[in-house]
Amino acid sequence: MPVRVSARLWAVGCVLALAAGGLAPSAEAAARKRVALVITNATVITEDGSRRILAPGAVAIEGTDIVGVDTPAAIAAAFQPRQTIDATGQILLPGLINTHGHAPMVLFRGLGSDLDLMDWLQQYIFPAEAKSVTPAFVRTGTQLAALEMIRSGTTTFADMYYFEEEIARAASEAGLRGVLGQTIIKFPVADAKTPEDGLARAERFITEWKGNALITPAVAPHALYTLEPATLKACRALADKHQVPLLIHLAETRAEVDTALTLANSTPTKYLQGVGLWGPRTLAAHGVWVSPEDMVVLKTAGVAVSHNPESNMKLASGTAPVVDYLEAGITVGLGTDGAASNNDLDMFEAMRFAAFLQKHARNDPRALPATAVLDMATRGGAAALGLDAQIGSVEVGKRADVILVDARGPRQTPMFDPVAHLVYSAHGDDVTTTIVNGKVLMRDRKVLTLNEATVLTAARAAAETVRAAVKK
Ligand SMILES: [Zn+2]
Repeated sequence: MPVRVSARLWAVGCVLALAAGGLAPSAEAAARKRVALVITNATVITEDGSRRILAPGAVAIEGTDIVGVDTPAAIAAAFQPRQTIDATGQILLPGLINTHGHAPMVLFRGLGSDLDLMDWLQQYIFPAEAKSVTPAFVRTGTQLAALEMIRSGTTTFADMYYFEEEIARAASEAGLRGVLGQTIIKFPVADAKTPEDGLARAERFITEWKGNALITPAVAPHALYTLEPATLKACRALADKHQVPLLIHLAETRAEVDTALTLANSTPTKYLQGVGLWGPRTLAAHGVWVSPEDMVVLKTAGVAVSHNPESNMKLASGTAPVVDYLEAGITVGLGTDGAASNNDLDMFEAMRFAAFLQKHARNDPRALPATAVLDMATRGGAAALGLDAQIGSVEVGKRADVILVDARGPRQTPMFDPVAHLVYSAHGDDVTTTIVNGKVLMRDRKVLTLNEATVLTAARAAAETVRAAVKK
């Protein structure tokens, strides 16, 4: 009996304790919104309209979306996460957006360096592509590229290559976002004997992938010097018919300028204007050799430009007038180009080279500051790909494409300015965590969506076909 009494007294005591204040936390917990993930205590670089930086800050993610961006205390009060990442000492920023490349070309990485462009293409790249590009080769190359991109903080990439459906499949399986363009070119290539075959293949690809959450299919006419005007027109019509992006190489080299002069006594930009290629949702890669009048053409047509500083430097193509583009109000994204001419997909390096190249070329250390370069790699890239309503900044309502960059190592110590750190000190290897569409693709440097050892083994095997193709 005394036991019962004391038990009842204990229960009464508990109820009293709850009534006296113990209820408040549980009521508060019930009021907090349940979410999948909260990342807290990071330096949050939002890249929003006012370039807000929260130090420290926190981000809440539910499903595919960012649902909260605030101080750690405010996020803790508003959300009850199923999982929490304490990102003390790390920088959280929008995932990087690579606006130009050819993912499977990672399998040609380091093939024939330090050669004249035409020697390099004719002795190495074209023979290697002719003998090795198959659906399986493209899939293996894309998986290798995806591994490298996830490990270096790229969450979205634009691509122009062959068998683009294999790239779409491999990229979406790896969890990456892509704007993927099926290449149209006048020569017989691995996936199309004629440009008409290429156009038909592009239309099938668009129909199959349009509306996918991660993949935006696109049309990718290779360049003015590899296509007849009628095919260029057909590419424009196909992009318009399906309301999809059009990706093209533009004014990359002096040789392309000479070609346009010979063909139509025109610049490459004006030649393509004459053909009727420019239109909405169009991204021109390189844009190195453009006149002030060309810039007016691009601006008027709403064409965005992908700047690829490392490829332009390695191939001695020239220096794109990036500062002038930005002053003209042209949208500029940043790209690596294929790994055959870079030789990696590290967007942190691309940021650093972009800044250094403009400063060097203009003899002005104030040219293209770190903030402008980070813009190009995030919100600028998103706008260039027509995805700025979904990605490019860390804001409530956008897709959760975010990365964490370690700022605790020797290279980042001390940290006075996190944006300067990202552009001038950080490397891709400093990325610890990569999240796309709310899904964690890499956590603490471990990639969760690809088997790294299997991908590397397959890539080394595929490289043997390349070695055989270029054997003298
Ligand atoms: Zn390219």
